[in-house]
Amino acid sequence: MESLPGVNEFTRSVIERIKRVVGRGTGELHTPVLGDLEKKWLMECIDSGYVSSVGPFVTRFEQELAAFVGSNHVVAVSSGTAGLHAALLVSGVEPNDEVIVPSLTFIATANAVTYCGAVPHFVDACPSTFGIDPEALRTWLRSVARSKNGICTNSKSGRIIRAIVPVHIFGHPCRIDEIVEVAREFGLAVIEDAAESLGSSLNNRHCGTFAQIGVVSFNGNKVLTTGAGGAVFTDNEATAHRVRHLTTTAKLPHPWEFLHDSIGFNYRMANVNAAVGLAQLAQLPSFLESKRRLALQYQDAFADFEGARIYVELPNRTSNYWLQTLILDSQRKSLRDDVLRAAHLNDLKCRPAWNPLHTLAPYRMHPRASMPVTDDLTGRVINVPSSAGLA
Ligand SMILES: *Cc1c(COP(=O)(O)O)cnc(C)c1O
Repeated sequence: MESLPGVNEFTRSVIERIKRVVGRGTGELHTPVLGDLEKKWLMECIDSGYVSSVGPFVTRFEQELAAFVGSNHVVAVSSGTAGLHAALLVSGVEPNDEVIVPSLTFIATANAVTYCGAVPHFVDACPSTFGIDPEALRTWLRSVARSKNGICTNSKSGRIIRAIVPVHIFGHPCRIDEIVEVAREFGLAVIEDAAESLGSSLNNRHCGTFAQIGVVSFNGNKVLTTGAGGAVFTDNEATAHRVRHLTTTAKLPHPWEFLHDSIGFNYRMANVNAAVGLAQLAQLPSFLESKRRLALQYQDAFADFEGARIYVELPNRTSNYWLQTLILDSQRKSLRDDVLRAAHLNDLKCRPAWNPLHTLAPYRMHPRASMPVTDDLTGRVINVPSSAGLA
């Protein structure tokens, strides 16, 4: 630390506390835990000859996942983004519709909307959960939208507002129950982006199961990885069937003929990915326990600290603590980049929240509410090393 010029006492102390938790462990932001079980199932998968989009591991993975999250149906797909795309399409999102999404999220949430030919319409975050603020949402929709015969229209753009995609940011459950309520009031379909929140719940109900349809991601940096992959949750059998159909090139079942009744996608999860996923799923409870322990270690390290705090899950909520979150006080906001710079010099791969989507080149001209909370939070949030292997 002595070699860092211009590092003030605050920054020095933040780095020292993070180091205390990380110890000799990895300073990477999030690394997967992979071991013998993954190798065993992978070998079995390769020996079986079924490595691609047909195979028993996919079905087993879907069944075990359904039991874990408490969803009637699970369809495994090739990525979380692909799952969101398919979920939006089966929810009735059409070209030139608008879809409400948070500005404070990973860009995939908005991109999936754009893939449908629809227009992301950005709204602000809630300061306590980082997810969409249901009250600000209601106020905004009352001012900008008019509802007629169950159809909600943006009175400025003239486009139909068809759906909303709430996100559980960093794995911390958002106010999904209240958001679903607002959506019902305005006749919007809800697609729950639970990409980051496998293992998180609200009132003992798993994230991703609050709406008609939910999506998780198994990318390499998420709580559970299949290398690349995702899954769609729904309690509705017909919806599950449509997602399965759409993600397997819309091919009609037939022993030899290639009959497709629409233009589908090649979004099915491959058997090799599901083999890894099945091994990961067996260890998920222990990953979640480790991440909870790590959260407590960070909370301890910053317990008596002035100027920043570690995010703690709210009452009636269980966070999977996917990314541990340090929040600087408003007066320390100007020091965010100092902390990030010093962290990287110390091999701690801390990173800020995503740049708000409404500020990025592809989405700068899109419809949006005002963003006081999003703008404030993104200046103060730092994700610190969060691998399950650290605890
Ligand atoms: C990771 C992520 C996705 C996309 O998942 P991929 O599997 O990487 O396609 C979507 N939304 C959010 C909020 C994410 O964090």
